[in-house]
Amino acid sequence: MHVDGSCHCGSIRFEAEIDPKRVVICHCTDCQTFSGSAFRTSVLVPEEQFRLLAGAPVTYDKVAESGKPRGLAFCSNCGTHVYGMTQGDGPTFYSVRVGTLAQRAELPPVAQVWCRSALTWLGDLDDIRKIPTQ
Ligand SMILES: [Zn+2]
Ligand SMILES: [Zn+2]
Repeated sequence: MHVDGSCHCGSIRFEAEIDPKRVVICHCTDCQTFSGSAFRTSVLVPEEQFRLLAGAPVTYDKVAESGKPRGLAFCSNCGTHVYGMTQGDGPTFYSVRVGTLAQRAELPPVAQVWCRSALTWLGDLDDIRKIPTQ
């Protein structure tokens, strides 16, 4: 499936060919902190299927719990997190943040990882008062 993405200010733009079966929710505490929210939704894309069209993301390097380094790319102007990237040996994969994709509504997640740190109130979302706009 062809997707296009951009950061909030539009200076970073990219496109990718993705497999919708690789859309995953991550409940790890790093994703909670980086997103400023309860979880993060990403899709794993091999390097050759990802193309940066405009902009120059800034990269923050973190060491994953596996011990592997990971570059987390974001827009230096608007702060949007656009993707994470494997580093070091082996093929490079991009972990594209689904919320940056124009097609995000068509990409329901197929799995959830790091559920041991998932916020318990997520299961109650249907019971929380819903307001159509602000
Ligand atoms: Zn931006
Ligand atoms: Zn995570």
